[in-house]
Amino acid sequence: MSKGILYDATLCVDCKLCEKACAERNKLPYDDTIAAEETISAHKLTFVAARGDKFLRRLCMNCQDPACASVCPVAALRKTERGPVTYDESRCMGCRYCMLACPFGVPKYEWGKLLPRVRKCDMCADRVAAGRPTACAEACPTGATKFGDRDDLIAEAKDRIAKSPGQYLNRIYGIEEAGGTSVLMLSSVPFETFGLHTPKEPLPMLTYRVLSRLPDIVSLGGVLLGGIWWITNRRAEVAAVESGEHHGKKENIEEDK
Ligand code: SF4
Ligand code: SF4
Ligand code: SF4
Repeated sequence: MSKGILYDATLCVDCKLCEKACAERNKLPYDDTIAAEETISAHKLTFVAARGDKFLRRLCMNCQDPACASVCPVAALRKTERGPVTYDESRCMGCRYCMLACPFGVPKYEWGKLLPRVRKCDMCADRVAAGRPTACAEACPTGATKFGDRDDLIAEAKDRIAKSPGQYLNRIYGIEEAGGTSVLMLSSVPFETFGLHTPKEPLPMLTYRVLSRLPDIVSLGGVLLGGIWWITNRRAEVAAVESGEHHGKKENIEEDK
């Protein structure tokens, strides 16, 4: 059965233990400065945004039909049966089409590294495969971030809204948005308050729009021509060119997009 994460903003206390657990699981640095950053970046895969006493977590939504995976010419990104959308750096050639395609602006690039990778939350795919909850869900002290079967989480979210209609918007974000996502969210205030837009187009349209802007992807077969050697070297080439282009630019969400 497909797994998911239910984030209930009304239970969140902005302790940021989810951020810290995510950093540990992904071997990323975490300190007070990073904790204060309200943006997804190559070194911060999830964050909790605060607007007064209201909060909203952001992370890869691990979409049911992910646009990032559908545009990836080498299948480095893949939707798994269990729910996570995984990334295989050994396949990635650094084209970054996924970054163009994602309707949430999630995938980020390690601009400063010699062999950069795309970084994004993969819903702790290794833990999920081992039957464990995601690190962020395990760390959450209030149950605001909960891991489970996606269908069960949807039923639970509906139940919470039915039992406390005054406490919630009558909306479960992630049932329909972007064609459905493995991450589901409940809130008492509109999600748009936090800048979370709702992709209006069905994802196949988004994918089509991105593909139509790409250089002749029909030559995709050619991508296979040099196999892994080519991919690895191409990624190094792209990194070299772009480290020049981006020299001196500090990483932030605008640059990463
Ligand atoms: S939110 Fe973006 S990066 Fe994450 S699975 Fe969906 S399309 Fe891919
Ligand atoms: S599911 Fe894993 S990778 Fe994603 S935000 Fe939670 S801890 Fe980080
Ligand atoms: S660990 Fe739970 S309560 Fe703390 S900030 Fe994250 S989601 Fe909110």
